Amino acid sequence: MTDAFTYTGSPAHIVFGPGKRRSVGEWIERLGCSRALVLTTPAQADAGRQLAGELGVLAAGLFSGAAMHTPVDVTEKAMQALTEAGADCLVALGGGSTTGLGKALTYRTDLPQIVVPTTYAGSEVTPILGQTEKGAKTTLRDPRVLPEVVIYDPELTLGLPVGMSVTSALNAVAHAAEGLYAEDRNPISTLMAVEGMRAIREGLPVIVADPANGAARAHALYGSWLCGTVLGTVGMALHHKICHTLGGSFDTPHAETHAIMLPHTVAYNAEAVPELLAPVTELFGSSPGGGLYDFAANIGAPQRLKDLGLNEADLDRAAEMATKSPYWNPRPIDRPSMRKLLQDAWEGRRP
Ligand code: NAD
Repeated sequence: MTDAFTYTGSPAHIVFGPGKRRSVGEWIERLGCSRALVLTTPAQADAGRQLAGELGVLAAGLFSGAAMHTPVDVTEKAMQALTEAGADCLVALGGGSTTGLGKALTYRTDLPQIVVPTTYAGSEVTPILGQTEKGAKTTLRDPRVLPEVVIYDPELTLGLPVGMSVTSALNAVAHAAEGLYAEDRNPISTLMAVEGMRAIREGLPVIVADPANGAARAHALYGSWLCGTVLGTVGMALHHKICHTLGGSFDTPHAETHAIMLPHTVAYNAEAVPELLAPVTELFGSSPGGGLYDFAANIGAPQRLKDLGLNEADLDRAAEMATKSPYWNPRPIDRPSMRKLLQDAWEGRRP
């Protein structure tokens, strides 16, 4: 039986394949543009300079100040660089932080964006923009910030360190896992979630053993695109709420927090919707939470919130905040259960 559903697909162009980064110039022209501002983090400034060099006259400038959680003061500096360069489009080369800056600039200018992702975070295919100002993070959902073109070149992920590959890919799995039980899930989002998790399940252990394996890198990047698309298509629940709380209020690192919390939040929701999480058990083994925990342990993922610098004394406040104005969730949320879940994740206990 197929129930009634609504599916809204993203109109973005997705270009996938080794060496495809060389098509950025062609896409700038296909968008009717001729002066791109290239964006990177400070750590990827050299890669940005190289891309700008390859683009030649199509590159109007380089801004290498992108930072985690899209701080508004950085966006303001980038706005100045954009105006000075007279840019008519944006090329974001990097992970979720750089993509976030591109979205923040488009939110203010409506300029078209080309994103060339180098991690598995998935932000490039979502209409979601999180920004921080004076220590507070706000998130908006607006189709205008969705990039027009995404160029996935797996060769660009070959240099992503193994630790970051692991946490970033588990961040992608989290989008898919929550997509399986999303209130507004549909058959297409579920297909993408299962296929995305499968590709990462297959590719990630190979990357850990052999980081230069191009086929495994391509497989994981393909999976991350699908998982990111799920995040951009349906609503997220408890897992994303807790991770936003921890990242936003306790400054825990984004991908690591997702990697640690995922087995716990999935185990919690599996009590309510075991049938919807059955694909997780099929892919990862034993039970949805236990299987994800064992998978994470085998690939060397961080497993304890205490290792991220979170104090045990902060868990009461974190539980309180995670319970306040909760996202829709398939299982009711209360403070004592959230406190226990956070304690388990803090200690790294197998769910
Ligand atoms: P990131 O973009 O912060 O990258 C982390 C570091 O790794 C940076 O210094 C970066 O330059 C470097 N790096 C990236 N790719 C590399 C590569 N291939 N080789 C070597 N170094 C590389 O990390 P992230 O996890 O991709 O993104 C996290 C941010 O993205 C957070 O701010 C999060 O809130 C946001 N995010 C947003 C969405 C959304 O839909 N809006 C989705 C996921 C994540």
